[in-house]
Amino acid sequence: AGQAAALAWLFDVTALQTARETAEAANRAKSTFLANMSHEIRTPLNAIIGFNHVLLRDERDDAQRNRLHKSLDAAQHLSQVINDILDLSKIDAGKTELESRPFDLGEVIRRSLELVRSRADEKGLELTLVTGPLPARAVGDATRLSQMLINLLGNAVKFTEKGHIGVTVQAAPPAEDGSLMLHVTVSDTGIGIPRDRQQELFSAFNQVDVSTTRRYGGTGLGLAIAKRFAHLMGGEVGVVSRTGQGSTFWFTARLKRGSVPKAAPDAAGMALRAGARILLVEGNAVNQEIARVVLETAHLAVEIANHGGEAVEKTKGSDYDL
Ligand code: ADP
Repeated sequence: AGQAAALAWLFDVTALQTARETAEAANRAKSTFLANMSHEIRTPLNAIIGFNHVLLRDERDDAQRNRLHKSLDAAQHLSQVINDILDLSKIDAGKTELESRPFDLGEVIRRSLELVRSRADEKGLELTLVTGPLPARAVGDATRLSQMLINLLGNAVKFTEKGHIGVTVQAAPPAEDGSLMLHVTVSDTGIGIPRDRQQELFSAFNQVDVSTTRRYGGTGLGLAIAKRFAHLMGGEVGVVSRTGQGSTFWFTARLKRGSVPKAAPDAAGMALRAGARILLVEGNAVNQEIARVVLETAHLAVEIANHGGEAVEKTKGSDYDL
């Protein structure tokens, strides 16, 4: 009987394992599909956004400008949703690699706040930042860090009608390996979240109730993304909240301490004189056209290469400023 039981148990374990492997494979296939789909959607969407900008630049008629602004807003919103889905599916497919580059921590935090300031102002919400001593430079993924903060800030503004939004940023003293744990909180005086709903918000597509969604908009992806990024950065996320009184969302993330930079200009921060020659490598014909219009408006001379090989050929013959 003992042997039969052991066999039955073994069978169960094997069946369970097969089921789990099948489920995991299906999940990976789904994530890969989503990642590809999102990419396919993003490319034409970028074309729509780009041409909207170009049209807005030339249009003088107010009614037309108004329509173009609405069209641009809609496209940008759609782009945000697609980007969120892409981020999430990439993380879930295990395809997200964090950057590890030096950046100015204080600057990244201040800039993230500035991105939501106008929306906070419009609602008459005060927006404050308190930081402890921070290292001048940190090494890590500044874009993702900022994205987490912006997600929390965006929610705080969205779900708060009056009062204020406070951000605190603190860094724990560096560990022996030179890394430091960053602790960020975003507090609001908004609608709050019932205790029994707080944890589930961090999984994808979860929202407190559908009526809030209809009222405030949103996909339920922001917190799920913040949680995954925090985990990738060796940190955690959480919330403390009371219905009707407000919420404090927080996350931690491990960064490395950076050394103070040499002042080397990067391409993005470089000022180009009028008439500077730019070699642009872009395979997509629509993107080529948008880039050409934008760059030529800035009085830059653009040469286009369809791919890296062509670019290398072109640089042999002449000198480009960028
Ligand atoms: P979205 O905001 O797009 O719906 P999120 O994942 O960012 O997606 O948030 C999920 C849900 O958590 C929101 O729909 C809302 O119900 C709740 N929530 C998030 N932040 C707050 C907040 N600061 N105050 C109240 N509710 C919040």
